[in-house]
Amino acid sequence: MHLIVTSAIFLFLTACGPKAEPSGEPVDTQRTWNTDSDDTDTADSDTADTDTADSDTVDSDTVADSDIFAVKDGGYIIAGPWHGYSWARVTGDDSTIDPTSFSDLEPGNGPLCASGIVGGMANWSGSALIGFNLNQDEDGEDAAVNAVEVQPGGLRVNISNPGGTEVRIQVVGSTGGAVESDRWCFVVSNFNEHVIPWTSFNTHCWDNGGEYYAGQPLTAAAVLVPGHNALDRPYEVCLEDLRPVVDEDGSFELPEDTEADTGGPIDTDLIPEDWNTGFVGAHGALQVDGAVLEDAAGDPIVLRGLSLFWSQWEGDFYNAELVNWLVTDWKINVIRASLGIREIDGYLVRPTEEMAKITTVVNAAIAEGIYVIIDWHAHEADKHPVDARAFFEVMAQIYGDYPNVIYEVWNEPLQDASWRSVIKPYAEYVIEGIRQYDPDNLIVVGTRSWSQEVREVLGLEIDDPNVAYTLHFYAGQHGVGLMSGADIAIANNLPLFITEWGVWSSGYIDDDYNNEVDMADLSPWLDWADENGLSMCMWSVSDKDEPSAIVKPGSSPQGNWTADDLTTIGTLMHGIFNE
Ligand code: MG
Repeated sequence: MHLIVTSAIFLFLTACGPKAEPSGEPVDTQRTWNTDSDDTDTADSDTADTDTADSDTVDSDTVADSDIFAVKDGGYIIAGPWHGYSWARVTGDDSTIDPTSFSDLEPGNGPLCASGIVGGMANWSGSALIGFNLNQDEDGEDAAVNAVEVQPGGLRVNISNPGGTEVRIQVVGSTGGAVESDRWCFVVSNFNEHVIPWTSFNTHCWDNGGEYYAGQPLTAAAVLVPGHNALDRPYEVCLEDLRPVVDEDGSFELPEDTEADTGGPIDTDLIPEDWNTGFVGAHGALQVDGAVLEDAAGDPIVLRGLSLFWSQWEGDFYNAELVNWLVTDWKINVIRASLGIREIDGYLVRPTEEMAKITTVVNAAIAEGIYVIIDWHAHEADKHPVDARAFFEVMAQIYGDYPNVIYEVWNEPLQDASWRSVIKPYAEYVIEGIRQYDPDNLIVVGTRSWSQEVREVLGLEIDDPNVAYTLHFYAGQHGVGLMSGADIAIANNLPLFITEWGVWSSGYIDDDYNNEVDMADLSPWLDWADENGLSMCMWSVSDKDEPSAIVKPGSSPQGNWTADDLTTIGTLMHGIFNE
């Protein structure tokens, strides 16, 4: 271990600088429900599996377990391999913090809570900090603070923020953060327990315009409440957990076996020869340019359409009559075909059947002149990379010359799938297969945590000129925190594509379909997508009894719907598409 001794009570400056107005709202961006799966499916893994087993039974006298976050006598913190004294401090003329020390805290699991006011400072330099040293012996608060080496992985974070202020995590290097280049931060938008990859920390986390953290030895970590340039800001924040997680068992290894069953032969006679019709005929091949999606003429283009439901559960909706109805009556210009992958009942066990549903929709989309997303609808796609690559190679061979086609190689990676070590190498493996046959069509790649953590891609983009990254949201479930993370990604020229969005409400079981769309939550999302010119598909074209289905149970899978067939969201979307 590389040790660097610094002064015992070291300087710990806040990261400050010009920034946008903070969003202010605490948000829960963690999905704890399952919109996509069948009602009877109880084994699906959409629910967040947070690690709580190790946080209840700490004996503060014998604490040595590397899996815990615990407080010992005198406010001494054990945080996995880290250990050192905690502290509470503020910067700025009128800032306050209570308590000013955690030395009297009862030993146990914490949390470290503090409240007060961060005084407004013209240069944005006010802050409040709850933190601890990472490598300090238990010899009193004046004991020397050493630096620790950081392993690839991330920082497990759990914060409660009843005060609803903007909150950052800040780590500092061997100078104790004395200079800006020696402190890195991350704007927290998810206040549930989750892991923030080290690669997401930046010296200017408010806009990620600085330098990304690159593994420098660290001496301290803290929760930071940033101040305003004029207003005093009250806050109340608790640090529940903050410790490093090593990225070791989640890495993606290139498969040795390349055999995969892609089902029976595809009848290519059913593929329209000519794509040069309708909306696609007018716009041609799609290409990303920075954060902007452009058509073949180089003009910005925004696609708006709908996503079909998992193919194995709502397969009746995968038909040409429906695609024609959605183009003529709903005026969509993109449709998403969601190939259900699951080894229980999806493509992996009946490839011919499920493949045929996808080709039916793709052929219809080509005939109607709209774009079509071929979506590998899986949460754990890294478990079947050979099947994914073989499937997309078939798609690329038969559709690679059609500008209609967009490949989406992993719908929604789970929360514990590292972008760097799992999602990105998986995507590169599949994309390599696609590019053998189709050098240019747009490819969309899912992002960690149900395609919510798009900014983790920054600095780790896939080396291909026509890749966009997936952002998913559910109004009524996901708040503005997701938007602020996406804003940072967009500001850094990352192209985003909302291949799936929907609405949700916790009390949706309601026969009259009248109370299920929270416009107060949905409108900001739609406005934000408009402002940023983001293409998107709404989930879903389905008659399932849930808020995000566009038609009521029993509606025809071929379309020809009356106003009575439409749900609340269906009526809304039909109106929006026809504006
Ligand atoms: Mg092509």
